[in-house]
Parts: sequence; structure tokens; C-alpha cells
Amino acid sequence: MFRNHTCGALRASDIGKEVTLSGWVQKLRDKGFVVWVDLRDRYGIVQLVFDEERTPAELLEKAKHLGREFVLKVHGKVIERTSKNPNLPTGDIEVLVSEMEILNKALVPPFTIEDQTDGGEDLRMKYRYLDIRRNPVKNNLIFRHKVTMEVRNYLSEHGFIEVETPYLIKSTPEGARDFVVPSRMNEGQFYALPQSPQTFKQLLMVGGMDRYFQIVKCFRDEDLRADRQPEFTQIDCEMAFVTQEDILQAFEGLTRHLLKTIKNVEVPSFPRMTYDDAMRKYGNDKPDIRFGMEFGELNKVAQHKDFNVFNSAELVVGIAVPGAATYTRKEIDALIDWVKRPQVGAKGMVYVKCNEDGSYKSSVDKFYDQEDLAAWAQVTGAKPGDLICVLSGDAHTTRTQLSALRMELAGRLGLRKADEFAPLWVVDFPLLEWDEESGKYHAMHHPFTSPKPGQLELLDSDPGAVKANAYDLVLNGNEIGGGSIRIHDKATQEIMFRHLGFSPEEARAQFGFLMDAFQYGAPPHGGIAFGLDRLVAILGGQETIRDFIAFPKNNSGRDVMIDAPAKLDDAQLAELHLKLDT
Ligand code: ASP
Repeated sequence: MFRNHTCGALRASDIGKEVTLSGWVQKLRDKGFVVWVDLRDRYGIVQLVFDEERTPAELLEKAKHLGREFVLKVHGKVIERTSKNPNLPTGDIEVLVSEMEILNKALVPPFTIEDQTDGGEDLRMKYRYLDIRRNPVKNNLIFRHKVTMEVRNYLSEHGFIEVETPYLIKSTPEGARDFVVPSRMNEGQFYALPQSPQTFKQLLMVGGMDRYFQIVKCFRDEDLRADRQPEFTQIDCEMAFVTQEDILQAFEGLTRHLLKTIKNVEVPSFPRMTYDDAMRKYGNDKPDIRFGMEFGELNKVAQHKDFNVFNSAELVVGIAVPGAATYTRKEIDALIDWVKRPQVGAKGMVYVKCNEDGSYKSSVDKFYDQEDLAAWAQVTGAKPGDLICVLSGDAHTTRTQLSALRMELAGRLGLRKADEFAPLWVVDFPLLEWDEESGKYHAMHHPFTSPKPGQLELLDSDPGAVKANAYDLVLNGNEIGGGSIRIHDKATQEIMFRHLGFSPEEARAQFGFLMDAFQYGAPPHGGIAFGLDRLVAILGGQETIRDFIAFPKNNSGRDVMIDAPAKLDDAQLAELHLKLDT
């Protein structure tokens, strides 16, 4: 027997008991005549004591030679501590050790395995198994487990069946590059790893499964912008015989359940906002609505004077930053530099200080009088004490830039509170999105998304204007889920492929199986997928998904612990019929 208690379990009520414990040496304090050892396992830390009076000399000597992270099995008696530690659940007691077995020795760990560690990120990733012994990482993994279990329980109770779908498949167009796997048995042919189980979950609906979910790995070979992982986990769902409303209700229910059980937060109903409104009011299709600072469009009140920068702009738009009228010149200059950074890319920024006495002081006083500026304050909702920040230029770019500024300032002002949760649905996304690089329209969600009823005809005349039955669930400025009502008939799917630039042959070669299935009684269906990693991170009140993944990859897509990706040897390459060009 290795243990009859865990290291976190013992309390004053256990005093007098003989116990057996196993765990790792967290810390050792050797005072010569007495040695204390903190023994750790997943459940906590307990203090072991060895002393001259009560411990056999040989055992005391052995204890003195323990090292950090040695694995021990000890037997001893629970006794009351003389100096109690109120910060430790086991702090009232210690275990007077009578027998000790060293189950394994350990090298000196490359960083301290404590809540606050001296190890940098790279080092901790290389020795991730040691990092996982630390509370912050361990607790995040346990937290993720709790969220996952709640998801499974909720969906299962609501009639969803978890079905696994294959990983070795053919390309699924979710807008990223595929990871591919060469097939040894089929020379010169490759599988693609799923960017999502999209086509399979639709086929499960054709198969009559009715309500499907899966907690599933997805693979996308993208350049890893901040906080993305090449493999990540989705809560993937699909339902048959549903309208968009049914889906929004079902997954609002799941989200509400998670907020309640995990965070004890009750959210009434989730607001809905169209994509167009989200862009107009927040410059962003995933607006953070925990705070205001809504955009005020200033064209009407700012384009009648001689200020050419504004007159020549498609859009002049501002936000009122609460309480920021007190910013010094230096602080405002720093803000202007911030919006001019290449990551944001604004050419400049106009500002108006709304003084407490009701007067205005702006960077464009030469062109605008107090009455003009009062109109700007009205449009942006600025109050005395606020600072209005105004950007201008082409509409889309300017909105994106102002959105970046809004989020940055909200962060600085402490308005993005981790313990506040503001979910909303963004609906009525455009069906297609113009891609400058390829000079083509792309599906904004994916090619299986249905257009709004009656808008199919618009595809020929004004493709950019067609709206989709597509929706995103947004939480605190993050898209945590997205989905759509699907096309479920062959003819419409063919039209869609044509508009996305597929020839009939290409569409057939890539998605023939789906279009065939549509001819055998495909029910109307739709679904959604949540990004589990991000959802868990937000619920956990943290920013990076890496912290909630047991073995994440770094920004270059590498696993630095196992050192992957790696080269194949010549024999393996030959077996796969591959020749390298480098
Ligand atoms: N497959 C989609 C995605 O991964 C989600 C969906 O449409 O259900 O974003």
C-alpha cells in the first residue's frame, strides 16, 4: 500500500492516527536536531517531521539527505504542531515519521516547483511535467476538467449524443491551411487532419442522429497569431429540424449553465446584435460590452469646416473615454503614438478634452468652435471629464483602429473585469467576404452556411450584400462560439460552390460525398462549435489558452518538450513514397 491518506487530507481531528502517505519533497528544512519536509501531492502539502528525540538516528540521517522532488512513501503518526500554519489546510498537524522509503530520486529541478516559480516560459514548457506539479497549472487543468464535465452533462441531459468522427480525412474548408498526413498504403496520396468535423456532423444529421456533440481536436495550419494553437479543442454540435432561434436558445442554455455552475453568475437573456450594428457601434464583430464607449459617427457634425483630413474621409468616428480629460499632453501624445504603431496603423488622432466646467479643448480648435465640439460630445455621449478620441479614414479600417484603441483604453482603465461576464449573440453575418489577396469572395463562415431566405438571387447582383443564417456567441470581447444554419439541398450547395470559385468538377471531387448525401433525404439542420480552450480561459479569468492546455505548443508550433515536429529518417520517407526537396 502506498498511502491511506493524501497529502492534503489530514486535519486536527486526525491527531493520533497512524498514516501512510506518498508524494514529492517540496521543501526540506534541516535544523540539525530536527528536519522538516513538506510532502506534496495533487491534493496538498503536509509537513513531515524527524527529530533527534523521537526519530531513530539512521532515519533522521536519511531524511537529511533527501533532495527536492524525491518521491517518498512514509509511515508515521499525526501529531499536533507546536507552531501552526493557518495558511495551510493541514497546518494544524504534522506527521512524525517512523518509516520512510525513497520510491525514486530526482535530479535538482530546473526551476522551483512553487506557485511563484523562477522558471521562464520556455524552460517550463520543456519540463512541462514539472510545471504541471505547480498549483497554478494543475488547478487550471482541474478547472478545465470541471468545465468539460459540465458541458458533457448538460448536452447529454438535453438529448445530445457524443459521436466521434475521424481525424484522417479530406480537406474541410474552415479558412485555414490543412495539416496533411501521407498515406503509406496509398502511394502519393494524403489525408488532411480536420479543421473541424463540419462535413461529418452534417452527415450525422443526414444519418438521423438529430442531436450530436463532440469534444474534439481540430487542426489548422495557421501562422500562430497571439494565443492560437495549431491543434485546439472544440465543443462541436449539430441539430436537425431546427431554426436559428432553436439553436440560439439551446446554446444560450449551455452557456448560462456553465456561468452558473462554474462561476455562480446568473445572466438573464443574451442580447442580440446584428453584425452591421456590432461593426458600427464597436468596430468589431466580437464586441466587449462589459463597458460602454460606443462609437459616435461624426461625419455630419465634423465635415462642414475646413479640416481636410476629416472632409476627405469616408468615416469620422470617435469614442468618449470616461474620466480621461485629465490626461496630460504627454499621455495624449503617447496615445497618439500608440494608434500610429504599425499594429494599429492610424495616421493620427484628434482629441477633445471635455472640461469639468463644460468647455472643450481640442487638438483642432483652429477649425472647430465650442458649439461644434459640443455636438461631438453629444454624438459620442461624452460627459464633462471625458476625453473624446477621434479617428478618420476609410470606414472599415478606421473602425478596426478605433476598436483597438477602445479595447486598449478599457484595459488601462480597468473596465475589462475578469469576474464580469457579458455574453451576446452577433447575428446576420455577411455570407461572403472579399479577399484582397486572392481577388475573390470567400465564405465568411464556411461554404455550407445558408444564405438568409430570399437572398440567394442577390448572389449574382450584389454578392457582398447577402446575409447568412450565421451567428457567433461572444463573451467579453472573444468569439467563443460560431455556427450557422446549413444548406441542405444539392442545388443550393452547387450555387454556393460556384460563387466561391469551384468548378463543378472541383466541387464534385472535393465534396461529392456531401452533395450525394443531400440527395438522400437530408433534414434541415444547423449547429455551432465553441472553442473550448478559450471558453475555459475566460471562465478561469485568464488571458492565455496555453495555461489551460496540458501540453501546448509554442508560437512556432513546436512542442519543445518532445521536440516536434522532427525530421523523418530515409527509411520512413521511402516507406511513405516521399522525397524531400531540401
Ligand atoms: N465548423 C464550424 C467552425 O469550426 C462551426 C460550425 O459551423 O458549426 O467554426
